[in-house]
Amino acid sequence: MSTLSPETPAIIPPAPSRLRLDGDALVSNWHWLDQASGSAACGACVKANGYGLGAFEVMSRLVRAGCRDFYVATWTEAAALMPLPDGVRLSVFHGVGEADMAAALSINARPVLCTPEQVMRWRSTGRDCDVMVDTGMNRLGVLVADVAAGLLDGLELDTLASHLASADEDVPLNDVQRAAFAGLAGRTAATRMSLANSAGICLGAGYHFDLTRPGLALYGGVPRAEAEGHIRPVVQREARVIQRRTLREGDTIGYNSLWTAERDTQVAIVNLGYADGYFRGFTNSGMAWFDGAALPVIGRVSMDLTALDVTDAADVGEGDWIAFDDDLPLASAQSGMSQYELLTSIGHRFERVWS
Ligand SMILES: *Cc1c(COP(=O)(O)O)cnc(C)c1O
Repeated sequence: MSTLSPETPAIIPPAPSRLRLDGDALVSNWHWLDQASGSAACGACVKANGYGLGAFEVMSRLVRAGCRDFYVATWTEAAALMPLPDGVRLSVFHGVGEADMAAALSINARPVLCTPEQVMRWRSTGRDCDVMVDTGMNRLGVLVADVAAGLLDGLELDTLASHLASADEDVPLNDVQRAAFAGLAGRTAATRMSLANSAGICLGAGYHFDLTRPGLALYGGVPRAEAEGHIRPVVQREARVIQRRTLREGDTIGYNSLWTAERDTQVAIVNLGYADGYFRGFTNSGMAWFDGAALPVIGRVSMDLTALDVTDAADVGEGDWIAFDDDLPLASAQSGMSQYELLTSIGHRFERVWS
């Protein structure tokens, strides 16, 4: 009986799909967000592995561009980014649980404390921290009233933060949150205040305070109309054709036969599916490209395969690389998934190619 043991293959198989990652576009998006943040400093959220792109690669490019304040969600994510370059600060949104304490004290990052329990736990360490105050999202954060009553006294508090619930919409809650947060100015020992995510930056100067924390828009997401035309796509999926074949009029394709050929149709089957984050919502709605020719997705997207109508692209054949739509708002409309989900679900089978 043989046992399974991992071993590096003599020849590493080539990836059947790749992500083209545009470092210039990433940096250009950060510069736009930095300018749009006015006199506030502009940080960067690199949680969820840099929204799926690769936190380390994103962070090194943004550090070179001048960004100094970074955010992750968990200590596992923080540990993966150690050691930090000189002068760079990293904060952990979920604060510090009892189980995190030993690791947190050994890592050069600070918690964003978000409950009274976390405040008690951290105060005695005498170390730097940020604090999240809840101004209406009712997710994480200490209460405004508790802050006003002195909950944060004695903390080594760097940044007082709050988070907008609906900055991508024009709703009264935005101003309610802004006003509640502004009311805390001077009420704590914090050296900085921070409220705005990507969409919040677009809401204007009243929302910028001292430091902004964009995520989505860095990676090519367009959070509000104000950002249209300024944010460049950063990520493009590409996959190889496995087979080109012909369907006859009346033939169907894929699981559950969700597409029927109305004429003889040339089809390419490519190495991409919902296991790669190319969701089933792209069934009969997604679009791919080869040499300027548009190739509509036909039939249901499978786990590892997607079919394209290549009738108008005579040259497409086995082994060719096909590019999928890189416009996130458009892909979101096609698939019914949010721009956030499209980024953070990018799978692990891609070779990541930065330019
Ligand atoms: C993820 C996150 C951000 C970034 O939000 P985007 O909408 O991606 O710009 C900012 N602040 C907090 C607290 C977050 O969790």
